[in-house]
Amino acid sequence: MKQIIIIGGGIGGLCTALALQQKGLTAQVYETVNEIKAVGAGIILAPNAMNVLARLGLADRAKALGMELEHLELTDAAGKKLMPVPNKEETIRDFGFAMIALLRSSLYDLLLKALPPNTVLTNKHFERYEENADGVTAHFTDGTQATGSVLIGADGVRSAVRRQLLPQVQLRYSGQTSYRGVANMALQGAQAHIAREAWGSPIRLGFVPIGFGQTYWYSTVQTPAGGTDVDKASAKRQLLAWAQEFDGISRAIIENTPDQSVIRTDMYDLPPLPTWHSGRVVLLGDAAHATTPNLGQGGCQAIEDAFVIADQLNRLSAQQAPQHAFAEYERIRKPKAELVVARSRQLGSMVHLRYGWQRALRNGLLRRIPASMGKKQSQDILALNF
Ligand SMILES: Cc1cc2nc3c(=O)[nH]c(=O)nc-3n(C[C@H](O)[C@H](O)[C@H](O)COP(=O)(O)OP(=O)(O)OC[C@H]3O[C@@H](n4cnc5c(N)ncnc54)[C@H](O)[C@@H]3O)c2cc1C
Repeated sequence: MKQIIIIGGGIGGLCTALALQQKGLTAQVYETVNEIKAVGAGIILAPNAMNVLARLGLADRAKALGMELEHLELTDAAGKKLMPVPNKEETIRDFGFAMIALLRSSLYDLLLKALPPNTVLTNKHFERYEENADGVTAHFTDGTQATGSVLIGADGVRSAVRRQLLPQVQLRYSGQTSYRGVANMALQGAQAHIAREAWGSPIRLGFVPIGFGQTYWYSTVQTPAGGTDVDKASAKRQLLAWAQEFDGISRAIIENTPDQSVIRTDMYDLPPLPTWHSGRVVLLGDAAHATTPNLGQGGCQAIEDAFVIADQLNRLSAQQAPQHAFAEYERIRKPKAELVVARSRQLGSMVHLRYGWQRALRNGLLRRIPASMGKKQSQDILALNF
């Protein structure tokens, strides 16, 4: 196979380049920004992603860059548990790895360092592609072009590759915007290895120890799309005002966050797409199955995609067309990725309830969920099917 073109140097694009390169296939990543750096604060890598990183030889390094979490705890605003959650030992026993929390920038550094130099070309804004019997050509806004055997669209939730491949597809707004940041503050004692998410009103607030004296936090609030804050300092003030019902630690975490690290992102996802590929072009990661972050799985699913697409392209015989690999990739990955999108959307719709009685009813129901049901749901998502 000739050169493989990857549009987008995010988690999915970089992992795909790495997985292809480890199979002996050559890929070039084209990224719009002029310097690759992580957008977003921290990230949790669940065991499904860690198992793929292990196959790519990166799991130990990922672990060393972050924090192994004891468990993820879901509570009400007063800190009372809402659902039973497996602990670290159970997670390792069932899936081989614990949840690992780290800075997004550390994950990007890890992936970039593992790639051969010059794999990623920056300042390349993809505009459109053109196909013929021999290959596919990507056109960039600087007037340059690149030709390869196949083109992988890993250009995120607002994918330009998807716009050309499936122009009718529309993103769905979740009704919620998110705030994220990294506090210069370490959690102490029993909290030091536990990720906590508390559902209050009007916000949900989660925080995750990431080691090295820092804590990653996120928050969501129900609001129309497209809203803005005057500046990051006022966003932080607003969050602190909303966080009155949470404990002192939660507020201290926000207070100890440099204003500049606060990021606001409206949360969108995609409905199931009719297909992920056509001709020599295929979608991957958020471009194919953008999900709300309620399950913390968007990046993990992109990492799963990366391994499977590389594996399927590697298995192609000289006589087989790329569509054969794409169809297999879609068969293996689409049901699971879409299950994640659907479950995440469903979970998100339960978070921000308007009335106290609705929240009390929900909390009561969640507390009655049997541990066996939680286990089954984890199995669906955290186990690999390839
Ligand atoms: C609040 C929040 C919390 C989250 N937490 C988690 C978590 O804990 N765990 C987890 O697994 N996931 C999490 N996610 C989801 C995760 O961030 C995404 O699913 C993941 O980044 C998707 O990777 P990707 O490579 O598909 O897309 P992206 O990471 O968005 O990368 C796309 C890349 O394409 C580039 N690009 C875009 N357009 C073009 C163009 N025209 N030409 C060239 N390049 C282009 C972009 O600059 C970018 O670098 C979270 C998301 C949010 C919003």
